[in-house]
Order: sequence, then C-alpha cells, then structure tokens
Amino acid sequence: MNNVSKTLLCGVFLFSSTAGLSTNVAYAETALQSDIKETIKHKIVGLNGFSWYYGFDIELKKQVILLNVAINLIPAPGVSRVELSQTKSIWKKAIENTWSNQYAIKTNTGAIYPILITVSFRALSFHHSVIVRPGKGSSDELNWNVRDSQQTVAHEFGHMLGAFDEYLHGANDPANPIIDSSSIMSSLPKSGKIYARHFHKIQAWFLTKTAEEVVQLIALKQ
Ligand SMILES: [Zn+2]
Repeated sequence: MNNVSKTLLCGVFLFSSTAGLSTNVAYAETALQSDIKETIKHKIVGLNGFSWYYGFDIELKKQVILLNVAINLIPAPGVSRVELSQTKSIWKKAIENTWSNQYAIKTNTGAIYPILITVSFRALSFHHSVIVRPGKGSSDELNWNVRDSQQTVAHEFGHMLGAFDEYLHGANDPANPIIDSSSIMSSLPKSGKIYARHFHKIQAWFLTKTAEEVVQLIALKQ
C-alpha cells in the first residue's frame, strides 16, 4: 500500500467557506438554477513527502453530488485481456460499494446531498492511468496488481478522492496525521471503514461552489 500524502485541512468536519459568497439560506434553489459540473485535478503531498494527484469529475445537482473517476487500467506483461476484464467488474463493484452513497453533505438549513461515486474503466479521457501487474504485490495509487484484494483497490481509490494514508510512516495528512487500523486508509485494510474525513476534498469543493459557509459530512449508513 503506498504512501501518499496530504494537505492542510483541519481535522474537524466543519469547514468555513473561502469563496466569499454571501450567506444565503436559499442556496439549494440557487444550485438548481444552474448545475455545477467540473473536472478536478490537484496534487497533494503527504507527511512522508510522497505526492500524488487526486482527480475526478464532480457535479452538483438537485440534492445530490455525482462524482466519477475514470481510470485507464493498463495491463502489464503477464496480464491477459480476459483476466483484466474479469477483474474490472469485481473492482468496480468493490470501489462503488465501499465509497458511494455512504456519506452526504448536510447544509445548515438541513439540505442533504448524498455523495454518489462511480468508477469508469472505459472513457474518452481518463483522470488516472494505473498499471496492473500480474499476481500479488505491493500497490500504490497508480500501480495495482491483478490479485489485489478489493479492500486494497478501494484504498488506492481513496487516494484518487484525496484521502490520506492512516498508518505509520504513510502519506498521512501533514496537518492532522491519523493512525487508524479500522480505516480503509490503513495499511493492508481488511474490512476497512470509510470516514467523513476521507471526503474533505469534496466538502471543500462544495463550499467553494455554493453560498454555504459551513456544512457537515454525515454518515448515511452505520
Ligand atoms: Zn495508501
């Protein structure tokens, strides 16, 4: 599991808007009038100095946030097209089951925006290119192995959303390093959980795109 790193977000799940927009309780209607959709790609650096890019398409619609990550899986020698094809469908389910519709952004007026996440292995353009090697082995965001566990792949996908490692000497959040063996962002996660902090980049994006000044991340399932 590779080391990746982090940025300067605080460890609390309430964020202040940096957009300088006026406070407006009618925000949800504002968003309805013109949906917001864009492609994000930013570099982050972890506590151990390891850097990587997180990136995705993100769209704010009526009461929902849609996020898609397009990943170009490139088979290394020794990985057949058939094997890769079978693996793709397993990984897609694993990633989406882990990350999608698990958390939502809640505004201070009570509006709730579930974060729906999809992964595409076929696309016209990709946010990330990942080499898929045969067998098992250590993985990082852009180097997977065809026999990687579903949890490992979900962990590496977390980095694509901007999540930091949560094990010792990993690419931890420099501002708030966390060690948590229960987390999907731990080393070799077995039944790793996802937490609100893993969605900080999405929360920060939401604040810059709306008139909200403070929003909360809430778990949809426990
Ligand atoms: Zn990692």
